[in-house]
Amino acid sequence: MENLLAKYYRPRLPHMWCPGCGNGIVTACVARAIDKLQLDQDKTAIVSGIGCSSRASGYLNFDSLHTAHGRAIPFATGVKLTKPEHNVIVLTGDGDATAIGGNHFIHAARRNINLTVVVYNNSIYGMTGGQYSPLTPHMSMATTAPYGNVDRPFDLYELAKGAGATFIARATTYHATLLTDLIAKAISHKGFAIVEAVSACPISFGRQNKMGGPAKMMKWQKDHAVMVEAMAKLDQTQIEGKFPIGVLYQGEGPEYVTEYQKVIQRAMGSGK
Ligand code: SF4
Repeated sequence: MENLLAKYYRPRLPHMWCPGCGNGIVTACVARAIDKLQLDQDKTAIVSGIGCSSRASGYLNFDSLHTAHGRAIPFATGVKLTKPEHNVIVLTGDGDATAIGGNHFIHAARRNINLTVVVYNNSIYGMTGGQYSPLTPHMSMATTAPYGNVDRPFDLYELAKGAGATFIARATTYHATLLTDLIAKAISHKGFAIVEAVSACPISFGRQNKMGGPAKMMKWQKDHAVMVEAMAKLDQTQIEGKFPIGVLYQGEGPEYVTEYQKVIQRAMGSGK
């Protein structure tokens, strides 16, 4: 395999991520998935919003858009509609995707537009100082919840499924090979595809919740994630506190860009 760094990364080291941050692992998985599929680099766009993870677009050597907070999906929608032949991959964080960008997220899922969205879920707003996000677990600590977060988190799978996404998967940075495979599957899927990448923010979430540093946070991922097929065979007491990884859902539905093209043809009088 050709050197991934030379082929897919811009020479912008040192990067801005903290030591032990999971963002580098997720980004490497994205590059590996692109390499696995041998995507045309000139026909692949990377779109991100704002936050630590969204800096990934600037490190990758593609047509990259580093956009406004929560607005990666609408920018990506515009790219996909004008360049339907392009692979459009959105890199976003838990806050960017489900708080500021929450409305865009559910409507893109409802439209089933052919985008791949990788949600770097580190359970917190890392860049802005450790505030809780819609994916911060109930009663976890955050700078805006020093005695515990009373909000219940979204289950990203349930949110995406309820909104109409047709491919939903999850893995962790500990399971990097699986994460790479799932991102490749998501890119190959025709429709709105989500991959939740459970990632560690040792500096903020880890420190505030006394999780013991990067290695222990990855061990936590190893101990709490269970392949979805194996999880189905366990009883309630065995799955307490665990979460499934793998392909959680794959379905079909009319794809937005294809449907839009039909309307354009009809309006121009060349379709039925
Ligand atoms: Fe990573 Fe957290 Fe540091 Fe941001 S604050 S770079 S998410 S470890």
